[in-house]
Amino acid sequence: MQNIFELEYSKVENILNNIGEKSYRIKQIYQWIFQKKITNFSQMSSLSKNLRNYLEETFTIGLPKIVTINNSVDGSQKFLLELSDKTNIEMVLIPHLNKNTLCISSQVGCARKCSFCATAQMGLIRNLTIAEIVGQVYLAQLELGDKRLTNIVFMGMGEPFDNYDNVISAVKMLQNKEMFKISPRRITLSTSGVIPGIEKLSREGIRVKLAISLNSAIPEKRKTLMPITNKYSIPELKKTLQNYSHRTHFPVTFEYVMIRNFNMGKDDIKALIKFVGDLSCKINLIPWNSLNYLSYESPSKMEITDFSEKLKRINSAVTIRKSRGNDINAACGQLAFHSINDKNSLL
Ligand code: SAH
Repeated sequence: MQNIFELEYSKVENILNNIGEKSYRIKQIYQWIFQKKITNFSQMSSLSKNLRNYLEETFTIGLPKIVTINNSVDGSQKFLLELSDKTNIEMVLIPHLNKNTLCISSQVGCARKCSFCATAQMGLIRNLTIAEIVGQVYLAQLELGDKRLTNIVFMGMGEPFDNYDNVISAVKMLQNKEMFKISPRRITLSTSGVIPGIEKLSREGIRVKLAISLNSAIPEKRKTLMPITNKYSIPELKKTLQNYSHRTHFPVTFEYVMIRNFNMGKDDIKALIKFVGDLSCKINLIPWNSLNYLSYESPSKMEITDFSEKLKRINSAVTIRKSRGNDINAACGQLAFHSINDKNSLL
């Protein structure tokens, strides 16, 4: 038995063609799954009894299990999910005006050891399967009911490019018009700077938004924040992004977590501006969300405005990301399984 969410559209199509089913049948199956939200093959009444039996014997429709849902005062919701091997991941649903953004995980834990991030403290437990990645999106759509999920960001737990193949298959399924039907402009892959992944993506021929977590353009400083800098240096990263832009013409966004008295000074701005250079990009500033076991500090409102104003003089495409779900530890970099032990996590 195979989880049907593990398979890209063309694979399921092949399997069904091999047993003599016409291609339009697979469309019908996916209409049941994605439009009518039916996850039981026996209820797909427009299919022949034979086909229903075959599907039941061949496939499952397996989803992660929701353990708890935490509601933030700002409307965002954090879901603690349990996977089949009892490991846990988190995802966050963030409604804003007429947008519904889902922040999903790509790994259980993470291997990249960023010093300011909660997930890093867990270390890497394992990669998510394709079905576990797209399953998060399916669950969110069930939760949303009539409301549409509009945006997906791979900014939950894990480094997406350390689970490259599964993440790319998941993205293809999320974009497939017979499946999740999410516009390519509305899917963001966020990476700590895994150069081989960025290079591979530039040749993949699929359209997504790419976000790079930069956080400092000063090599020594970035190394303390993000040890990945020891492996993939800042100049190499820049060169890779230039090639990526040149080849794909797709937009690149830099994420910059602002940490008080650490990466918000004159030298930091100077290095950032020099790094960005003539690359066409956006810069997204994120105030560091505090984690009580780390000694970094979040910037004040004044410090945030001041830093962004200075940057804006040089690059107009600077935005400040408003933190959401802070009260339930659902904000950027606050996702980790151990938060189940926080009093906030228990409903
Ligand atoms: N591994 C990927 C995706 C997950 S992190 C990556 O590094 O991009 C998603 C974003 O959250 C990154 O931009 C990261 O820099 C940011 N982040 C991590 N911890 C944070 C914290 N405590 N406060 C604010 N942002 C944080």
